[in-house]
Amino acid sequence: MAAFRRFICPGCGYRYDEQRGDPHEGFPAGTRWEQVPDDWPCPSCAVREKPDFVAEVGS
Ligand SMILES: [Zn+2]
Repeated sequence: MAAFRRFICPGCGYRYDEQRGDPHEGFPAGTRWEQVPDDWPCPSCAVREKPDFVAEVGS
């Protein structure tokens, strides 16, 4: 099983963590980034969408 990753909104800094998911958005813990719809908007700023997010590198 691949390690969990994190993706960050470049607009506001919201972080999506695969390990935690985002239950408020309908993504239970462990939801992989690939399972997040491409048109999913950032729940924090609602400006950026999934393709805008950048993978967090390092720990
Ligand atoms: Zn955002």
